[in-house]
Amino acid sequence: MKAPLKLLLTAALLMPLCGLAAPKNIIVMIPDGTGVATLTVARQVKGAPLALDTAIYGLVQTRSADSEVTDSAAAATAMSCGTRTYNGAVAFDVEKRPLLTFGDWAKAQGKAVGIVTTDTIVGATPAAFSSHAVKRYDSDALIEGQIGSGIDLFLGGGRELLTPERADILRAKGYALPENADALAAIKGGKVFGLFRDGSLTAMVERRDKPCAEPTLPAMAAKAIEILSQDPDGFFLMIEGAQVDHGAHAHDLPWSVHELLTFDETVAQVLAWAKAHPDTVVLIAPDHETGGLTLPRTKDGPGERIRAVRAATAKKSGRAKDWGVRYSSGDHTGVDVFLAGNTPAVRPYANCEFPKAIAGREAQTLPELRGETVEENGVTYLKTPDGRKLRANYDAIFVKPTGKWYARTAE
Ligand SMILES: [Zn+2]
Repeated sequence: MKAPLKLLLTAALLMPLCGLAAPKNIIVMIPDGTGVATLTVARQVKGAPLALDTAIYGLVQTRSADSEVTDSAAAATAMSCGTRTYNGAVAFDVEKRPLLTFGDWAKAQGKAVGIVTTDTIVGATPAAFSSHAVKRYDSDALIEGQIGSGIDLFLGGGRELLTPERADILRAKGYALPENADALAAIKGGKVFGLFRDGSLTAMVERRDKPCAEPTLPAMAAKAIEILSQDPDGFFLMIEGAQVDHGAHAHDLPWSVHELLTFDETVAQVLAWAKAHPDTVVLIAPDHETGGLTLPRTKDGPGERIRAVRAATAKKSGRAKDWGVRYSSGDHTGVDVFLAGNTPAVRPYANCEFPKAIAGREAQTLPELRGETVEENGVTYLKTPDGRKLRANYDAIFVKPTGKWYARTAE
């Protein structure tokens, strides 16, 4: 038998034993809070097809473990960790045990990992791919977990969380800390922790007629791919367009639509990169719909809506009736969301099936650690029986309500 054929046969025989091999590069893109009505308006306003139009191939069910209407934390936990959980949980299961995140799993596979968002970096979506908290608004635990995660690249908002002590720890770990688009553009490799504004980044609708020193989502995504793709083992990248959701909560259509158009530009760019780099799986899905947006028939069709959204250069430029739309909720809704990407064979039907569908991963709870909890200068540590001293959040996960400790990664 010729050697290449023999090799092929051996590989075919071994494959069932190894299970599904994960792709080299994995890019998960989440346009937070985007329902199909927002997609329709974005297309009307663009006046041309969206990149998403030809990439969509399915629907995703979004409910959480304790509600038919998920919040962003439970949805992102499902997509990152592979199990439904309670609303408010960041990478914790319903028994309040921490779960292995997609980011930490990918690091353990030797891949480079990046987290990119237009929200604060501790927003529920980026956080569930990179950190842990029993409750989503525990910003200190979330950023300290991110700093301790070893994840290569974080880009987004939340600069107010970068205290001098945290910045020093990051510099000691070798991270660059760019504060604006120019500084980010100058970075060519290595670890990056770029927080460009307090809270969320400036909305795209507000950048339309004013200069802004913050990078855009496409700029952040391009830089992330440029840096992460230098790893020969491949990479995992989560890209969130966070503010379609923010606009929908505020019933502000231009805010949402300009965010979605920018997200869609990012989609076009990422799909083009993936086409040129085989063994890259791109999976795109909102975490839930927000606002219950509908588009009833209006006197002049969508004409006035299109004009008004195109003209807007600020938040709160009008009200639902000015755009000929209706919102049925100030909250998230429970409808299914679209599924898009470059690999239709990767076909999760629910958000909790993402890790299995992409990488053959099952949900994994993290191992509990034994030892003595001690407080020193207001800092909580675990002294382990083998003599290690682990700092809460940075080195290990400390669950305050139960007093239990867990390893950050699976052993
Ligand atoms: Zn959300």
